[in-house]
Amino acid sequence: MSKKEIDASNHDQWLRDEPSALAKLLSPLAGYGVTISSMFRPVETERYPFEKPRVMPRFHGRHQLNRYDDGLEKCIGCELCAWACPADAIYVEAAPNTPEAQYSPGERYGRVYQINYLRCILCGFCIEACPTRALTMTHEIDELVGDGREGLIYEKQNLLVPLPEGALAAPHPMAQGCEDSDYYRGEVSGPTQNQVDWVRANRPDDPSLATVKVVNQKEAVR
Ligand code: SF4
Ligand code: SF4
Repeated sequence: MSKKEIDASNHDQWLRDEPSALAKLLSPLAGYGVTISSMFRPVETERYPFEKPRVMPRFHGRHQLNRYDDGLEKCIGCELCAWACPADAIYVEAAPNTPEAQYSPGERYGRVYQINYLRCILCGFCIEACPTRALTMTHEIDELVGDGREGLIYEKQNLLVPLPEGALAAPHPMAQGCEDSDYYRGEVSGPTQNQVDWVRANRPDDPSLATVKVVNQKEAVR
């Protein structure tokens, strides 16, 4: 056996030297030093649920389904979010948009949309997968607790954002002169007269008619 191998098997060589008498005397003070210095730092205790916790700007809280400025829904029912989810927490059922009921630009919309918060780990993979930015995450975490299973399976109506100011409730046709690609490029800035006329003819009692702010066609496509 070589000298090097003999040294490697001698574990005592890794022990530190015996501390000096002075070091032994001061070591309790060093321990208290950490405690005492911590006593003068600001208190970091979170008082949740009595006070909302401070979260970072990119914090992942409850999801939301977004709308365009004219009120159409951004979700096109493509299911990419559901396929990206590692916890199998999202369920989407798409349905075709028709001239009688158009909920989103393009061919299809998300008719059924569920997120199961008993499974969700708030990883954010789903929002990365969404091609239209229909799905994003808020800073809300308060309501993601409950004493029953049903309350933690969020449906589309729980996730869909309220109508933007001046927008028109869906369903209604796309803004006059616009294609679905104009929506995806963010070029629609509000409802046009053709949309208001359509809702007035088909749902004269729709409450959003009272607050709608029509933009002319030039403004609708920025
Ligand atoms: S945040 Fe993650 S776990 Fe939750 S629904 Fe999205 S992909 Fe699934
Ligand atoms: S939220 Fe986005 S990814 Fe999910 S179905 Fe709707 S458009 Fe597709």
